[in-house]
Amino acid sequence: MKGEKKGIFNSASVGPDKCTFCKIAMGEFPSYMVFEDEKYIAFLDINPFSKGHTLVCPKAHGETVWDMEETEIGGLFLLASRVSRAVVEATGAEGFRLLQNNGEAANQVVAHVHVHVIPVMMSHKGKPMDRMQLDGGEMEATSAAIRKALSRF
Ligand code: AMP
Ligand code: ZN
Repeated sequence: MKGEKKGIFNSASVGPDKCTFCKIAMGEFPSYMVFEDEKYIAFLDINPFSKGHTLVCPKAHGETVWDMEETEIGGLFLLASRVSRAVVEATGAEGFRLLQNNGEAANQVVAHVHVHVIPVMMSHKGKPMDRMQLDGGEMEATSAAIRKALSRF
């Protein structure tokens, strides 16, 4: 049921006025944007698990998928799937993860719904992934490659 959040706890809960991803959606915070339309955005994760790690989210503020209209949940995952094709093509990955955390117990840190698209290589198989830091030039080049690939999907 929309709005029903019984049992879902997140100490990072904030309103849209203080939300990092709302500010990215409004262009008030910088991002390496790879996609934008009326309802959704996709941009590079600033502290990625792998090169090309992208976040896909609705522009409208909502903390978990339970705060979204069902058709928009569908649209979000459809876009994540499309973005995954571009991310894999742009990075040469051999697989990808789609990950979506709801609530602090699920490791949700930013309380604005988002789907992680994480490209992986065979060398990642069976190993825990560590966060990495890419310099601005690499982030710019990666986002440009994903944007270019997305125009074909
Ligand atoms: P989650 O743990 O599912 O809430 O994931 C939140 C993700 O947002 C993490 O992977 C962070 O690295 C990422 N993140 C936080 N702030 C920013 C930002 N300003 N731009 C891009 N990614 C961010
Ligand atoms: Zn928000």
